[in-house]
Amino acid sequence: MAMNYFSTRDSALRRTASQAILQGIAPDGGLFVPQEIPSVDLTELIGLDYCALAAKILGLYLTDYSEEFLAAATKKAYGGGRFGDLPAKVVRLEDGLFSMELWHGPTCAFKDYALQLMPLLLTEAKRINGDDSKTAILVATSGDTGKAALEGYRDLDGIEIAVFYPDHGTSEMQRLQMATQEGSNVHVFAVRGNFDDAQTGVKKVFTDAAFAAACAAQNKHLTSANSINWGRLVPQIVYYFAGYFQLVRSGAIKLGDSVQFCVPTGNFGDILAGYYAKRMGLPVSRLLCASNKNRVLADFGASGSYDANRPFYKTASPSMDILVSSNLERLLCHESESCAETAGFMQSLASDKKYTIPAALLERIHKTFGFGYTDEDACFDEIRATWEKDHYLADPHTAVALALARKERGNAAPCVVLSTASPYKFSGAVLAALGGSKQGSDFADLRALESCTGIPAPGVLRALQDKPVRFNEIIAPDEIRSVAERL
Ligand SMILES: *Cc1c(COP(=O)(O)O)cnc(C)c1O
Repeated sequence: MAMNYFSTRDSALRRTASQAILQGIAPDGGLFVPQEIPSVDLTELIGLDYCALAAKILGLYLTDYSEEFLAAATKKAYGGGRFGDLPAKVVRLEDGLFSMELWHGPTCAFKDYALQLMPLLLTEAKRINGDDSKTAILVATSGDTGKAALEGYRDLDGIEIAVFYPDHGTSEMQRLQMATQEGSNVHVFAVRGNFDDAQTGVKKVFTDAAFAAACAAQNKHLTSANSINWGRLVPQIVYYFAGYFQLVRSGAIKLGDSVQFCVPTGNFGDILAGYYAKRMGLPVSRLLCASNKNRVLADFGASGSYDANRPFYKTASPSMDILVSSNLERLLCHESESCAETAGFMQSLASDKKYTIPAALLERIHKTFGFGYTDEDACFDEIRATWEKDHYLADPHTAVALALARKERGNAAPCVVLSTASPYKFSGAVLAALGGSKQGSDFADLRALESCTGIPAPGVLRALQDKPVRFNEIIAPDEIRSVAERL
């Protein structure tokens, strides 16, 4: 049966899967959600390898893509050992507590699971819809998304990608990951100012009507690579199933037993994929939403009020430093009475940076979700304690979730923490948490962390030091537009 998508703000606004992926955001500002959530038979899925499992699950949602295409695309994205010997590998820390390592892909961050596949989905969406325009992708990044997007979109026909990061606003490692990027269609710029300046510069280009008209005249189409696109969300559903099946195979649980997942959360995309997995029939008793010091979601879970009027903190887990978690809109849409209600919340968020949901809706959300946060000191304590007790090295994002899982998981069901980045992407912070002193450069920190733990860093990070830098141009925020013009 064909699956269609509607806008979170208007159920009459319908699109096919490939149209939803091409458009990214609905014309009314809403996000595309599936009209119904398919259910699965676990016994039919448990025997599949990761690529076949991904093709099967994606096929239920992306009904206007062919089976052959999905089988080939998932092999290309996840096959050949590109995500380690076993994608989404689950590691036992202690009785009932597990870490699902999502960072063995090409850029050492979990965003690779989405961004290795999404570009293939976009190219195929253009083909299905007879769209022969050139796609120009603009990405403002504080680090991880930019690199994962560059690696995913490099050398694809009909696509140019430009990434903008704040000059001096990323780690040395993150900067070099981007500055040494290979590919014939990639462009990387440092922008004077902070992340907000880069993001505002990019948003200005997206909302410039004259610019859009000029693009249309050249048969060019601007789009972004951020996590509100359905094509970025849907691949993430797969690893919840893959992780669960590993627990069954290892004998930690029996098929049908419940598990909990604890997810380090920023834009609410990763944890929302877990919600879809549960609704499809995966036995998930609870999804724990872990925030860092920017605890807007934890406060929302406690009070039902989402309030973005608050100070913004820069933390050791920068990919979770977010005040507006866009994908929460999708959850509200699925759990609330109507799209009109969701549209109302979002209107109030736009005008007052705040909204409050009714008590009954909050109660429904609490049936599935728990919320909590880990401040900076507790995050560093967790990195040290996990190393000392379990001999396990966690990056700061993972540690935010681990600390919450230890506090909240109880004994009712095993808990799987989603581990979202290699600890070596944040060597300085991890080294400091273990009591080492920072060495003055990211590479020296990496080597010091290797020698103090005996755990080798991923080869791609170690090799960065010797790769030629291709991009070192620094521009002003208002030059982003002229870059976009030239793509
Ligand atoms: C993006 C990111 C997150 C947050 O994921 P969301 O889908 O935005 O909630 C957590 N950890 C790392 C390392 C990330 O890069």
